[in-house]
Amino acid sequence: MRYHLDTIPVWDALHLGGACPLCALRSRTEHTLVDRYLGASVMEPDTRIKVNDKGFCSRHQRMLYQKQNRLGHALMMQSHLDVVKAKITDAFNKAENAGGRCFFKRKAESTADGAAAFEQMDSVCILCESLDDNMRRYVYSFLHLYEHEAAFREAFQASRGLCLKDIHLVLSMAQEQMKADMYQRFVKALREKTLETLDTNKQDIDWFTLKFDYRNADKPWNNSKDALERTVNFLRGWTLGENPWPDDKR
Ligand SMILES: [Zn+2]
Ligand SMILES: [Zn+2]
Repeated sequence: MRYHLDTIPVWDALHLGGACPLCALRSRTEHTLVDRYLGASVMEPDTRIKVNDKGFCSRHQRMLYQKQNRLGHALMMQSHLDVVKAKITDAFNKAENAGGRCFFKRKAESTADGAAAFEQMDSVCILCESLDDNMRRYVYSFLHLYEHEAAFREAFQASRGLCLKDIHLVLSMAQEQMKADMYQRFVKALREKTLETLDTNKQDIDWFTLKFDYRNADKPWNNSKDALERTVNFLRGWTLGENPWPDDKR
């Protein structure tokens, strides 16, 4: 699949100089999307139908709520409830028609369908889907820049690389998108950078824990003050500490 190139935000994210540029892009995009869903776009019929059908996950409900637009948020939930009512009626019908475990296999499948319908409702989120689409476009642009611009390769080499959460998508898209020799070169660089960042985090978190020993109380922190946040963010994508895309650069 071809994505349109969007290289400027990717360069901007790398220039932020923080941990993972893709985490920074995800954070910025997520905030933009939350604002958009609470703004005028939700009144557009197409968007409204999608929101009514899919709703939002727990994380994104919390982000919508934090924006303090109670009426906008409530209006989306109001019409979403009508669609949810139809869906759960259908799901309960399937579950009820099945009966207990002594019934025939066909009926057991119907129970599973009823349960699966609830699971499906709980796992889908229109904002997560939009975010994933955006992230694929950014990863496409990231890989394009890596393949075609020496300056980008140098900037990546000087960065702290990517978090482990983002490597999955990057590697799978790189395999599809890059020429074989560049793919090999990229994987080698990514491997070195990732292990280098892991080793730095390990060294810093070692000293972080030793600083809790009273004998080290007066010794300098070196680079260890944010070692815990950095390590968690490296392992699972941005989770703790300051937002990777500062508010004043939005
Ligand atoms: Zn990341
Ligand atoms: Zn979500």
